[in-house]
Amino acid sequence: MSATALNQEDIMRWNDSLDEGSPQGVLAAAVERFFPDVALACSFGLEDVALVDMLSRIRPGVKVFYLDTGLFFPETYAVRDKLAARYPAEWIRIEPRISLDEQAAQYGASLWAENPDLCCKLRKVEPLQRALSELGLRAWITGIRRDQAPTRANARLVEWDAKFGLVKFNPLAAWKAADVWDYVRSNGLPYNVLHDQGYPSIGCWPCTRRVQPGEDPRAGRWAGTAKTECGLHG
Ligand code: SF4
Repeated sequence: MSATALNQEDIMRWNDSLDEGSPQGVLAAAVERFFPDVALACSFGLEDVALVDMLSRIRPGVKVFYLDTGLFFPETYAVRDKLAARYPAEWIRIEPRISLDEQAAQYGASLWAENPDLCCKLRKVEPLQRALSELGLRAWITGIRRDQAPTRANARLVEWDAKFGLVKFNPLAAWKAADVWDYVRSNGLPYNVLHDQGYPSIGCWPCTRRVQPGEDPRAGRWAGTAKTECGLHG
């Protein structure tokens, strides 16, 4: 059945039938229904590391794409290289249409500081829209957890993503950070060393700072601005 053959009620019923305690069960359901037209969106955070591992056990060769803004920390590229060497997924690198030099010439050297919404639009949202369309996907998988941010508090295991026009799976929606750490540690998975240096949430280097003990885990993202999301998830 195609994604378009599913209506909102179907998806709600499907969501209700899935087990919040089993991300693997959610992934298996996503793969069973949509492979090869389903992909994991990976930004190399801890959640993504866990999902790449789970997915690869369920279906080696599944698509994993990442939006390479050109502004990752070196430590993030290091995790990418480790995961790509370890897992036989179909790794897909998506680039913005506009290079960093072109962006600087057109909008100034630090658009992320002047207008982070436009910068995210150019380097993340447009590339994602293009990727989802060009890859012919009917469903995508994310590492969203409900307790990461108020904007994510209502995330379901499976939902209709009206913004991008396809089914969206959030297998870790009900997991806490400790659950993800347990999975990563107990399976000996590689992860970004910045997580051990005060960076619970890691994005592009210009928009990510270390958080202090007791601060919200996402306080280091776009610190000093009202921005909390890059536009991919709301
Ligand atoms: S996170 Fe910052 S640097 Fe990265 S695309 Fe968004 S605004 Fe630009």
